[in-house]
Amino acid sequence: MAAMEEQPIPDSASPTWRAMKRGLRMRCPSCGSTPLYRSYLKVQPVCPSCGAANGEFRVDDAASYFTVLIVGHVVVAPMLAFEVIWDASLVLTLAIALPAVGLVALGGLPFIKGAILGLMSAHDRRARAEAMRPKSPPGPWS
Ligand SMILES: [Zn+2]
Repeated sequence: MAAMEEQPIPDSASPTWRAMKRGLRMRCPSCGSTPLYRSYLKVQPVCPSCGAANGEFRVDDAASYFTVLIVGHVVVAPMLAFEVIWDASLVLTLAIALPAVGLVALGGLPFIKGAILGLMSAHDRRARAEAMRPKSPPGPWS
């Protein structure tokens, strides 16, 4: 199997989209040069390359929610279209389908978590930049 070649994300992409793509690739959403995780779903608290505090973002149940949503729509719903599912015994169907769906969900979870963490990181950067922007003086209508 050929190794996937890393494609650089163009700078013309919006900062939010760029951070989500980097997270989807399981890279740091800020710089994209270092791995996002130190183990299966453990986020590195601080990026060793750029110093971004990726560990402060709490994805919580959002990653599992979106993973189940995607697996349900991409795997389970099309699986029900095959007639063999309805003709085979329930035990055989569950013995094959449940591990397959579980593996797909567990395999996709780090990617989805990375994308959500990238979204949170981009939102946090935008909020911090907005807070640093000098306030305009109040106008006559305020
Ligand atoms: Zn980084």
